[in-house]
Amino acid sequence: MKKLFFLVLFLLSADAFAVQISDIRIWNSPERTRLVFDASASVKYDLILLSNPERVAIDIIKGKFFGRVPSASSLGPHIKKIRYGLHVDKVRFVVDLRAKVAIKDFVLKPNQIYGHRLVVDLEGSSAAQPKQKKPRPNGKEFLVVIDAGHGGEDPGAIGSRKTYEKKLVLQVAKRLKKSLDAQPGIRAELTRKGDYYIPLRRRTQIAVDMNANLFISVHADSFTRKSAHGISVFALSERGATSERARLIANRENLSDLMGGVELENKEDVLVKVLADLSLSEQIERSLDLGSMVRSQLSNVGKLHGNGVEQAGFVVLKTPEIPSILVELGFISNPKEEKKLNTSSYQKKLVRHITRGVVRYAEKYPWNQDQWRTANSDASGSWGAKGR
Ligand SMILES: [Zn+2]
Repeated sequence: MKKLFFLVLFLLSADAFAVQISDIRIWNSPERTRLVFDASASVKYDLILLSNPERVAIDIIKGKFFGRVPSASSLGPHIKKIRYGLHVDKVRFVVDLRAKVAIKDFVLKPNQIYGHRLVVDLEGSSAAQPKQKKPRPNGKEFLVVIDAGHGGEDPGAIGSRKTYEKKLVLQVAKRLKKSLDAQPGIRAELTRKGDYYIPLRRRTQIAVDMNANLFISVHADSFTRKSAHGISVFALSERGATSERARLIANRENLSDLMGGVELENKEDVLVKVLADLSLSEQIERSLDLGSMVRSQLSNVGKLHGNGVEQAGFVVLKTPEIPSILVELGFISNPKEEKKLNTSSYQKKLVRHITRGVVRYAEKYPWNQDQWRTANSDASGSWGAKGR
């Protein structure tokens, strides 16, 4: 009996050292397929690329797998099949590929919904090529890029009725695109169209690549005090925040990359040089103008926060030449507001008034590329980490 007790103890302690992989999740975006391994503890791993046929082996040291491999329908364009084998000292996953891919791997620490994770990104060759700029027909089309915050591994705020900010804001962003597209002379594009994560700097780069006139990032708030409610509009600040609340919100939204998963390499994007049509102070001035136009329209929808457009160091608003605002649609931490935000009638109301604000702005500043370029021909350079 005593022997058995020790044997059980030995097995239990041996198991306690193992890393349990409970699930493999897949996020497909136009740029990559992301594999996420959910682990019970931080993982030690090896990654081996093999050819003929193309495949990648992922060894998780002292790993055990208790989940199911993802179904064929969820594998996306790069993966043929995922299989695994249990070894004494590791679990080996083999990802059979359709063609050669570029691979990036990194680990993520636990957040409010997920635990430890190993992330493996597979990028096809088309994503590696630089994107062609799509020039906007001069003076004919006013282009608005709408950014639904968060996505993929980053849920954003989570409501008391389990509303995920990332889902809510994508719904509203899609409605806003439809509403803006219906305006004569205005076209809208989305930074993300599905449930996957895009790094903050990449979102602004998408707007720059498209030569957008405006950039609007859509979010929903949360606060420990359940009664907090209302809509707020933010712009970038060159130094400091206009209020403690604005600073806190910017800090939280800037954590997105940490939640959503950006491998260190991508941080180089910050150094990308761009030709600025507008200087930083002009961009902020226009953003404040846009913000107050949108804000005054939104005053018809519900309670507004603060006395005006607030400012803080939002990374996602550092779009060099493009006036940019961030709209917090309301507090999903407030059960009443969360319920309202989930209704299509309220979403449509929000969208209708944001659209009116954008139309006002487009009327005041009709696109004239030549005018902007000559007025600001000496304004160029990197934005880098300025204004953080
Ligand atoms: Zn957010």
